[in-house]
Amino acid sequence: MEQQNRDIELTFKKSGHFWLDSGLIGLVKMLEEVKTDIQISVSDDKLVLRGPRDNLQSSIKKAYSILVSNYYNLSTKKQETDTSSYNFYYDTVQDKFIPFPKKKAVGIASVVYNKAPRPSVSILKWKEKDWKKQKKEISVNGKKIQRTRPHLPDTHRTLQERMDDFLDKRGLDITTSGLLIDGPNQIRPKVTIKIGAGASKGNCYLCGEPSNLLEDIKETVFPLITGSSGVLSFNSLGGKPEKVCWKCSLLGKFVPVNGFYLSQGENLFAFLPYSTSLEKMVDVFVPLHEAEYRDPNLFRNFDHPLGGYFQRSFEVTFAFLYTLYRKILLHQRSEQDDENTVLDWEEMLHLTTSKAPLDFFVLHMESKGQTTMGKMAWPFRDSVYFFRLMNEVEQTGIDVREVMRLYVDFTQTKNENKALTRNRVCERILKKQTILDLTEAHVFRAELTYFKPLLDFLIIYESIVRKEDDMTKEEQETAVTLGKRVGMAVGGEGKKGDLYALRKTRTKTDFLEQLNRLQFKLGSSFTVPPGVYEGKLTNENFKEFKPFCMIPALNSFNAAQFKSQKGGQS
Ligand SMILES: [Zn+2]
Repeated sequence: MEQQNRDIELTFKKSGHFWLDSGLIGLVKMLEEVKTDIQISVSDDKLVLRGPRDNLQSSIKKAYSILVSNYYNLSTKKQETDTSSYNFYYDTVQDKFIPFPKKKAVGIASVVYNKAPRPSVSILKWKEKDWKKQKKEISVNGKKIQRTRPHLPDTHRTLQERMDDFLDKRGLDITTSGLLIDGPNQIRPKVTIKIGAGASKGNCYLCGEPSNLLEDIKETVFPLITGSSGVLSFNSLGGKPEKVCWKCSLLGKFVPVNGFYLSQGENLFAFLPYSTSLEKMVDVFVPLHEAEYRDPNLFRNFDHPLGGYFQRSFEVTFAFLYTLYRKILLHQRSEQDDENTVLDWEEMLHLTTSKAPLDFFVLHMESKGQTTMGKMAWPFRDSVYFFRLMNEVEQTGIDVREVMRLYVDFTQTKNENKALTRNRVCERILKKQTILDLTEAHVFRAELTYFKPLLDFLIIYESIVRKEDDMTKEEQETAVTLGKRVGMAVGGEGKKGDLYALRKTRTKTDFLEQLNRLQFKLGSSFTVPPGVYEGKLTNENFKEFKPFCMIPALNSFNAAQFKSQKGGQS
């Protein structure tokens, strides 16, 4: 017996895989919630639990139950309020029928485990095999409705009348294949915890270690298994699933703890904070999750302040990172919280670079009935750049919300097409690429009448991401100055067609010819900045020079038109 109480060590190694390591963090956080006397120690590359075997076993089991009730077995506000859709069970001790709201797994948990709830204790089958056909008409609030009313088996016949009475009074329907006894049904993926004893049955496909308990790898271990991308597949070529150990299988269930998510129709976007150091992942867990938000309908667990139409992966990623920036680095709590707060550099350092860099794994999954397709998985490694960019932009008084709104194309009739360009712009921003061409095309196509914030944003952004061999700052300034002058003059004296004619030019020579024509037409109200003829416009930079000129040109044109309309009215 003494042998039984001896302390043993149970080690969970950090695998270096973003999914399993997210699960490892989840296990650490859930164990912290358990009142336990086992020792928990986290280092850079592993979690070590120390204590008597039984204590380890029961602590992990308790942690798992906390996980299930916080992430899998949930009810939305709607499911809670709609009492007529409640389920029920019979409590044998209290001799009572007890109603309870329907349950479902949401967000990342729904990707790990998307199955119907099962009885938590036991179930007594109805007398009839075709129980669904046992209908009865009842009256609820004066309305007649059909409800399923099968019979209890003969052993429990005496309960029948009370049960029917209980159900009829509440207008409840029967949706389970039998009477639930002594507990509700619940969403709880199966796990096996088998510490220590037993000979090795082979090596785990994921962690490579020998294990006393192996199981087939499936969605509940890593849901992107069925993804279209071969990189994400764990199935070997023969099609036979690989084997994983009980520890890796267990960790797979804990992933939702670490993640942020947003669901949009059949699409789920998930963001998993990740670092090469497990200690770092533990360090940043609490500050990061300050950005967490509880949506009553559980569609998402972060609340971005950037407005509508966020539905594609890159714009949602942008919105997620922006939420962290505002909530954690600016300490702004609500959308209305617009006070001019300053970036908390210490927090930023703590979050991003201290000890080890912090990355975010971005996942886009699409659910098709029971299966989930992995559409995209990529690591975002530039959070420092992104937070600095937002800070620099907002310090100059530009409202990022306004910029994001201006990138919506309201001329598109279909809602799903309104933010196509914005998604591409967000992708470029996240990848530190130019957005010049997209922005130029957008302002002309979307018929924007006022977009100064967008122009200001563009100029700051481009100056940050441009490389040395790109257009120089002076060249860029010349283009912008020229654009402003063209727009002002054409807006005052000319026609919008003049702008289009300039925009249509394909070479530097054509472009200069159009400028000459404009000068001739508009006379003294239009002067070309000297830089244009002094080498700031070249054959090489023409492709960039032109959009840098055309965006401010349209903006100034709109402003001039607005002014002259107002002038005409007064
Ligand atoms: Zn393993």
